[in-house]
Amino acid sequence: MPDKIQRIMIDAGFTCPNRDGSAGRGGCTYCRNDSFAPHYCRTTRDIARQISQGKKFFSRKYPHMKYHAYFQSYSSTYAPVSQLRQIYQTALSQPDIAGLVIATRPDCLSDDTLDLLYELSLQTHVEIEIGVESCHDKTLTRINRGHTWQQTADAIQRAASRHLDICAHLILGLPGEDESDIIQSAHQISLLPVTSVKLHQLQILRGTKIAEEYALHPQDFLPFPTPQDYITTLRKFLKALRPDIKVRRIVSTAPPEILIAPRWGLKPDEIRRMIDM
Ligand code: SF4
Repeated sequence: MPDKIQRIMIDAGFTCPNRDGSAGRGGCTYCRNDSFAPHYCRTTRDIARQISQGKKFFSRKYPHMKYHAYFQSYSSTYAPVSQLRQIYQTALSQPDIAGLVIATRPDCLSDDTLDLLYELSLQTHVEIEIGVESCHDKTLTRINRGHTWQQTADAIQRAASRHLDICAHLILGLPGEDESDIIQSAHQISLLPVTSVKLHQLQILRGTKIAEEYALHPQDFLPFPTPQDYITTLRKFLKALRPDIKVRRIVSTAPPEILIAPRWGLKPDEIRRMIDM
């Protein structure tokens, strides 16, 4: 029987071109990286230590687990290729690490970086999670993504030409988008060689630019979808999606102390059960 695989999140200290001024400043309006980082994931700890802490955390429940090193924070290909090689090799050399999952932006996937990922993919599992968020340039501008849809489509094509496993991350319900925009994103993604998607609802988190926009102009965001509204839109999105594309996630829940809206008060499992009904 194949080993169970669990992802261990790693913060390797990357930053993001949409924060340091190369592509933009201030970051995407909704971005708050600490909303999904687990306690064992800190830049003050080295990669080997984060992995051993993560393994300790998960192995209590599943003693015979294998792991993927999950570089999720910020833009995890935003460094020179020589440095990236060292970072990824350090993770791969840890016991029980059976592959890499690397989250990044479309404009941080140069041909040289993709060549490195291809080389690693010949030895181990390599998956790239690309922040797409929306297929509409008007939305990408509004949320200050600092790249265009064309850049996303181009990065996905170049990654696929190296046979890499590509997951597209999208947020459903971004400001200014109605249901037909969201469904159009499903059609656009379906035209590209992605292997999976990761989806979740828009969440407004404390300390973000979008939280300031919401406080100043709440009418631009209202009405927030109820769980049932979200599920209805999600079903339509999934119906429009190419059937071979795997769906890795459909909802996200930020810690209640930083979540402003929507406050559904439901756990991800409860929402998944509602979808199955
Ligand atoms: S690209 Fe990612 S890390 Fe950078 S600002 Fe946007 S959401 Fe944050």
